[in-house]
Amino acid sequence: MTVMEKLCILGDAAKYDASCSSSGVERPGSGRNVGSAAAAGICHSWSADGRCISLLKVLLSNECSYQCAYCVNAADRDVPRASFEPDELAELTLAFYRRNYIEGLFLSSAVRGTPDRTMERMIDVLARLRRSDFGGYIHMKAIPGASPELLSRAGRLADRMSVNIELPSRHSLGLLAPQKSADAILSPMGQLAASIRENAEERRQYPHAPTFAAAGQSTQLIVGASPEDDRQILSLSQELYRRYALRRVYYSAYIPVSSHPALARITRPPLLREHRLYQADWLLRFYGFEAGELLDTSAPMLDEQLDPKCGWALRHPEFFPVEINRAPLYTLLRVPGIGGVSARRIIAARRYGSLTFEDLKKLGVVLRRAAFFVTCGGRTMPELRMNARTMRQALLRDARPDLGPLCRQLSLFDPVDTRPSAGLIEEG
Ligand code: SF4
Repeated sequence: MTVMEKLCILGDAAKYDASCSSSGVERPGSGRNVGSAAAAGICHSWSADGRCISLLKVLLSNECSYQCAYCVNAADRDVPRASFEPDELAELTLAFYRRNYIEGLFLSSAVRGTPDRTMERMIDVLARLRRSDFGGYIHMKAIPGASPELLSRAGRLADRMSVNIELPSRHSLGLLAPQKSADAILSPMGQLAASIRENAEERRQYPHAPTFAAAGQSTQLIVGASPEDDRQILSLSQELYRRYALRRVYYSAYIPVSSHPALARITRPPLLREHRLYQADWLLRFYGFEAGELLDTSAPMLDEQLDPKCGWALRHPEFFPVEINRAPLYTLLRVPGIGGVSARRIIAARRYGSLTFEDLKKLGVVLRRAAFFVTCGGRTMPELRMNARTMRQALLRDARPDLGPLCRQLSLFDPVDTRPSAGLIEEG
């Protein structure tokens, strides 16, 4: 099999992994080595299925010995199989890099033989690249069950490491990925967190000490394959952020590939649910929300029609209205339509005088949403006469009405959709 044929199979097989964002490392080229990494993130293009691939995102092998029910590469699936030799993949990566096709490598692999054997081969690729003075970004997936020594070696070579948690509960993991265990996933996460912390401390004292996974660690969670609700998923994410200092939890809508009896019966990936989980995750990380505030046992799923901040605000009328000229940052951040940047602008601007609704617009506040929840100098926006029901209707009108049908994977090869509603990300 030629390298090109392997690349077609293994590049395609890697597209199911969502954890490909690569921001966080600043390493300018030294003039002597090849390449550099930028802190602002180096993957800003998208694969045919809408996922980010400015990294060369590839599996070392898809010849898997495991039987994860949700996975297209499971041992019993009838799919084309291939494996790179470590030197082939290292040379390919360097060749792409030199031609400016990519800015780094995202390397994952099926478990070929044993976890240790697989990790050794992946580390071999990274070691070859670094020996060739490859200074580009490398994100490597750790294989659950591989030995701690191999994990340490990998962390010295990669910029970011990740161990996929895969499913939101031990029960589902046991049912759908019987060869994996929660402990085999969480213990490398713990080891990585400790090593990253120690390395940061070491580099504070000795700035030239070698780095260890300087861009931190992340994980991926499959959404919709198993019965856990959004509340369980967000609580797990919050716990992972706290306990293992993860940079990101990636949510990947389950793509139905199997008729395994324990898998959810769905026909399409739940992309809108994935999108709402990313929004809620953002609220956990940057807006001071707790998972238990966003969802509870009486409302365990995110509202698919409204973004999670609007949903929370409608359920908590006692928190509003917020007086723009007095509220602290923490409170401003809870108002729909006010993002981190506009909240800080409000705090800076009101030092010089009382703010009006007109000022808020200039400061970047999305008044279409915020107006229902704030007062300026004790006054609501003049034309607003709202109750909870009409407020929800107005917020729904503001949410894009055609959001549902648009939530499908974008294709690199379809005609470009130029409608203003083609993007799905909302602010504030
Ligand atoms: S270990 Fe499981 S998830 Fe990973 S490639 Fe093999 S079957 Fe797929």
